[in-house]
Amino acid sequence: MLHIKKNDEVLVLTGRDRGKKGKVLRLYPGGDRAVVEKINMLRKHTRPNPQKNIKGGVVEKESPIYLSNLMVICRECDKPTRVGHAFLSDGQKVRICKKCGGTLDK
Ligand SMILES: [Zn+2]
Repeated sequence: MLHIKKNDEVLVLTGRDRGKKGKVLRLYPGGDRAVVEKINMLRKHTRPNPQKNIKGGVVEKESPIYLSNLMVICRECDKPTRVGHAFLSDGQKVRICKKCGGTLDK
């Protein structure tokens, strides 16, 4: 089971965006990388091409970041935390915050 899911709030632990927070926009196939809003922005230069009506210039786009560089921020205690797992009384598996014990899946 993945410890990070889409729409999670995460903290970046390493790299250029270390210390920044963002929302997980999507997970990459394979499950080892994620695209996080405004994190790991890649500047892409495009050449103008009038025939294709492309203006050219610099486009900024998120590039994927490894999940091992991310930590989930708990919505209950608002702190970056390691993720544990627990079962609800109905047998459903949920992720829990190791700091406050709150549920990460709502
Ligand atoms: Zn917590």
